[in-house]
Amino acid sequence: MTPEALTPLQKLEALAAKHHFVVTSTTGGHHTPHSLHYLGRAIDVSVRGKSDREVELLLEDAKAQGFRWLDERHKPADGRPWGGPHLHLSDPPLGWDGGA
Ligand SMILES: [Zn+2]
Repeated sequence: MTPEALTPLQKLEALAAKHHFVVTSTTGGHHTPHSLHYLGRAIDVSVRGKSDREVELLLEDAKAQGFRWLDERHKPADGRPWGGPHLHLSDPPLGWDGGA
């Protein structure tokens, strides 16, 4: 299978696997109402045991692939659902303006 044949979810999961990050949430779990998780276009990865440098390398790779992310290593102040320290990575559809 060529990389182009992968779904957005598979591409995100491949990125996490490449950097040895554990995926804690894909399309399930508890997210904001219009979350890209429900479209199969977002994953959460745990940052447990990861150094800042490891996180930085993951995010550099995500950026190179055109992904977006939210750094949710700290509890959001706005009361959004939060399941512990993680990074939210997404591959929004073209023209998407609903954030990461
Ligand atoms: Zn998320």
